Amino acid sequence: MSARVLDGAQVAREIRAEVTAEVKELQQRLGRPPALAVIQVGTDPASAVYIRNKARAAEKTGIRSSVLRLADSSTAAQILEVVQKLNQDDETDGILVQLPLPRGMESEEILEAIRPEKDVDGFHPHNVGRLALGRADLVPCTPAGIMELLRRHDVVVEGRRAVVLGRSNIVGKPMAQLLLAAHATVTVCHSRTQNLAAVAREADILVAAVGRKGMVTEEFVRPGAVVVDVGIHPVQDEAEARDLFGDSPRLEKYLEKGTALVGDVHPRRVRDVAGWLSPVPGGVGPLTVAMLLRNTLQAAQQRI
Ligand code: NDP
Repeated sequence: MSARVLDGAQVAREIRAEVTAEVKELQQRLGRPPALAVIQVGTDPASAVYIRNKARAAEKTGIRSSVLRLADSSTAAQILEVVQKLNQDDETDGILVQLPLPRGMESEEILEAIRPEKDVDGFHPHNVGRLALGRADLVPCTPAGIMELLRRHDVVVEGRRAVVLGRSNIVGKPMAQLLLAAHATVTVCHSRTQNLAAVAREADILVAAVGRKGMVTEEFVRPGAVVVDVGIHPVQDEAEARDLFGDSPRLEKYLEKGTALVGDVHPRRVRDVAGWLSPVPGGVGPLTVAMLLRNTLQAAQQRI
């Protein structure tokens, strides 16, 4: 039997509708819409697409968004100056620095300069620390979205064995913290983990955030497990599409369009083993954006 779908697109729609209603209400109290400022350094095309998606989604919920574009050649001091201005601007509720920064530029100093109350990505050490203490405030969007995905599909987390593949500050670590706070028994794996597939197979809930296309195959998945796929990768060619999708509507779609996206989970090899599976696209991706809007709303609410 095929895995049931963890429908991120649907959950994201629900969250956006809730945010829209709350934005309306908050706007009356604030006398202006909640406002998000995105700092883009350089011209990375993928970043430009992500920023456009975020800005469009924000506008649809009534959140005002602005993009401050800085040249590739900008110095850290120039970026910090923009961050400080936004920190002090009473009409800016949320600040986000789109990552990755141009090559050779460290993100730490810049992320740490953002006022924690405006840190809608939840990457500031203050917010990271609160999450670790179990007193979460602004939480990184992707793992926060995954918790909503599980909750709204009535997936029980408490008491269950969760395995997170990946330990990045953006996804893996905060994911583990949130699962722990929800009373799962959590294991975090990374590139040095031995017997990775065997560890993964112990999971009732498996979150794949390794950034390796189709790496998670049936050997990683206990039959019936809940599998959340965070990765996003383009499919390169037809042979790869045939391997990843098998004879399925997805292959037909690929052959028609010539492009497709896939995650860290191998869809053909996992779909009949997992109990639940989040698709790529339409799984975690839309939730990341929805949670950014929710964090912006929360930041604005907390400021009044
Ligand atoms: P990173 O590259 O920062 O982290 C990857 C993690 O996976 C690291 O901890 C690394 O281990 C581990 N890893 C890499 N290769 C292996 C391996 N062969 N075996 C075991 N562990 C491995 O990635 P991110 O966390 O930022 O992102 C992960 C994926 O999620 C990417 O595909 C990214 O594009 C996607 N993503 C999607 C989002 C969405 O909205 N859907 C949002 C954010 C990310 P080590 O620490 O030892 O190096």
